[in-house]
Amino acid sequence: MKKNIAVLPGDGIGREIAKGAVAVLEAVGKRFGHEFTFEYANIGGAAIDESNTPLPEQTLSLCQQSDAVLLGAVGGPKWDSLPSDIRPERGLLAIRKELGLFANLRPVVGFQSLLHSSPLKPEIAEDVNLMIIRELTGGLYFGKPSERRGANQEVVVDTLQYTRAEIERIVEKGFEFASIRNNKLTSVDKANVLESSRMWREVVNEVAERYPQVEVEHMYVDAAAMKLISNPKEFDVIVTENLFGDILSDEASIITGSLGMLPSASLAEDGFGLYEPVHGSAPDIAGQNKANPMAMILSGALMLKYSFNLKEEAELIERAVQETLKAGYQTPDLKLTEGKVVGTDEMIDLIIKRVEEGATVSSEADVYM
Ligand code: NAD
Repeated sequence: MKKNIAVLPGDGIGREIAKGAVAVLEAVGKRFGHEFTFEYANIGGAAIDESNTPLPEQTLSLCQQSDAVLLGAVGGPKWDSLPSDIRPERGLLAIRKELGLFANLRPVVGFQSLLHSSPLKPEIAEDVNLMIIRELTGGLYFGKPSERRGANQEVVVDTLQYTRAEIERIVEKGFEFASIRNNKLTSVDKANVLESSRMWREVVNEVAERYPQVEVEHMYVDAAAMKLISNPKEFDVIVTENLFGDILSDEASIITGSLGMLPSASLAEDGFGLYEPVHGSAPDIAGQNKANPMAMILSGALMLKYSFNLKEEAELIERAVQETLKAGYQTPDLKLTEGKVVGTDEMIDLIIKRVEEGATVSSEADVYM
């Protein structure tokens, strides 16, 4: 198989970890006889420095001509005082919108070897394996007007707007993933207060008729927030709108013990995808060879699975990561009491070695479907 991949390393640790994902994908390509080619472009702060905009035209067109996009992370103190419309994070919102990436998928898996780095009790964090599907291009973050008003600018307005079609396509994704996992879907809303949530619930009930095998549960967002840390094992697939998904997926990320373990996929209607770690550019550790590259590397595995339908290859990466952890290697963020702490580069090499050897043994295999 031949695939062109756009790589947008971004800022801070984004640059250190993106090279790790590329190296791992190259090793997978070699093992399975695929030809992956990588072309690089700037986004975020690096793009602002180069061309005064967080999402240059050439970056967008490179992505549009590619088969998939790998993104590191953007942002950093250097750009924090810029006006909000040219801040690095604007580049993220713009690329999601321009590429039509309406569905954000975040698998959250409680790795056995990392149980003790979770702030939750091991019996609560173990065996967690859930997927949060968040609407990414509508709702409160994009609604207009969003402004200050009045003579003294002391009134603020943000707008939460969704069309039925926007809700239908994300809810459909929720059912699709529930169907290929365990036929259990939790739809999160605030239908006791918000009109948008009442329409959301209507749509979920309509789409449910086409998926009779999927057990559907409606849950208010406040209840979901509590349950995610008190009994996360109860969830399998969660589908929700943009703002709720933003908050719940960050909350869920603590279950694994480190932001550095969490990959994500953002998909368009035609299956085109952008893959990035959940974390940011971590300016506090950038350039120190301390970043955990695993979220980025696992994002590459999601790309193989969702954009290229290369399931076996994706699972090899997942097993290589698991085996490296099981062998006792960790990056500093994991704060395990036993094992050997290694830097970003060594961790990347250890994972590549296991890919080359065809990592096989794992009781936790196949976790990121
Ligand atoms: P962050 O995720 O960058 O860092 C939070 C904490 O987690 C830091 O202590 C950091 O060192 C640690 N951390 C994060 N990823 C890690 C990894 N892979 N390995 C080891 N430790 C890791 O969030 P923040 O500090 O709030 O934001 C820093 C910058 O990143 C800001 O400019 C913010 O706007 C931006 N940001 C970007 C994205 C993105 O690109 N998708 C997401 C969130 C934040």
